[in-house]
Amino acid sequence: MWILVLGIIIVIIYLIITFYKKKWYNSEKARNKVPEFIEALKNWNWYVRMAAAEALGKIGDVRAVGPLISALKDNDDYVRKAAAKALEKINPEWYNSEEARNKVPEFIEALKNEDWHVRKAAAEALGRIGDVKAVGPLIEALKDKDDYVRRAVAEALGEIGDVRAVEPLIETLKDENWSVREAAVKALGEIGDVRAVRPLIEALKDKKSYVREAVVEALEKINPKWRNSEEARKKVSEFIEALKNEDWRVLEAAAEALEKINPDWRNNEEVRKKISEFIEALKDEDWHVREAAAEALGRIGDVRAVEPLIEALKDKDDYVRKAAREALIKVKPAIEKFNASFSYILCKKHFLRAERKYNKEFTYIVCRGCGSSRYLIPNIKKVIGVIGGDIENYKKDGEKFYVNLWNNGKVRNADIDILEIINSPKIENYDYVINSVYTTLYNDVSRDKDYFKKVSVIIKGNPPISEDVISMLKVKFKEVRYV
Ligand SMILES: [Zn+2]
Repeated sequence: MWILVLGIIIVIIYLIITFYKKKWYNSEKARNKVPEFIEALKNWNWYVRMAAAEALGKIGDVRAVGPLISALKDNDDYVRKAAAKALEKINPEWYNSEEARNKVPEFIEALKNEDWHVRKAAAEALGRIGDVKAVGPLIEALKDKDDYVRRAVAEALGEIGDVRAVEPLIETLKDENWSVREAAVKALGEIGDVRAVRPLIEALKDKKSYVREAVVEALEKINPKWRNSEEARKKVSEFIEALKNEDWRVLEAAAEALEKINPDWRNNEEVRKKISEFIEALKDEDWHVREAAAEALGRIGDVRAVEPLIEALKDKDDYVRKAAREALIKVKPAIEKFNASFSYILCKKHFLRAERKYNKEFTYIVCRGCGSSRYLIPNIKKVIGVIGGDIENYKKDGEKFYVNLWNNGKVRNADIDILEIINSPKIENYDYVINSVYTTLYNDVSRDKDYFKKVSVIIKGNPPISEDVISMLKVKFKEVRYV
């Protein structure tokens, strides 16, 4: 019981003291003490300086604003914080004040102080005050030897927003310290000058992910349509190339950059061209290259890589095997999507439809002829086998795919849906050619027996075909049509 009473008494005493203290800070006596406190801001003892700043904040006398601004570059962190807090109390808009502007030369001078804390604090204050007079000296200070100072300087230049800082900040994108680079990126975003677009896109492959995140934000600020810019499109090939960089950080950055420029980058023509190159690299002598290739293939996520990656699961190097396994897991969703359109996949080298293969863990798709997924192309709804005409080997036309079944005296096997016979001066004996084609198609036993009954024959123009062969076509195939 007595403990409770004592507790209550203590609380009451505390409240009374605080009340009088508050009252004191608002008193005439306190205001008279202001010059004394201002003087104390220069005391040798940091604790005294801090207490003085706090007291000035509580008294709230505007005479203290100038001296408190000066104290923002105190070499002690606690004093600077107390001064900033006090200024906030006296005048939240202190940085727009006459006093603040008058202090600019003082802060510019402080950018050369030997204590880096002071230099950093000066840069911060100059950024806050936002006087363009500080731009030149701040640009100079971008070369400060201390990372923290350079970072604060870059931030200050961003706050001031003067275009003179653009080129020096672009230069700073190469700073060795990532947090300085990040600050430069943000500052360029704040300034919003289009000259920064190209170098920022370049910085999309910064090795530090924080920097890359900041780059996208900055680009959005400068030009929300930056993705469609000439600069962005030019960079795509470079990033694709970087996908096989041995340094995983570069690789990751490149993949991320591509993701940011165009979320649909995997379907980019150039990427698709690169895939065979990466597949080739899976057999490189250097395991680093093999590993990087596996990773790149995983990121691209193209099903054509599946079978080579399964092959790479047997690589003699542990890292390569691991990379191949991870890549396969990444490709899985693509395989599933591909599986859904399974019947529309064609090998463009052998003109045969794909078939499913089963590995212990992965279902994958390969060409029925070569057993590889390397040359598969999706979305081929009709394969038209052509005898005659002017197609050299094959031609893709949207969802249609034309294959010349008779080329230089050779017959080609193909999983055709339609057979077209067209006039051609190159073919002397149509009967012979048609019979050869039929025999070749017939000899592929992997197709259903009633396969020909689903294939229409279309005769275009007036190719010289005998009655016997026409009857044969009518019997074996679904129908014969003339156009
Ligand atoms: Zn094939």
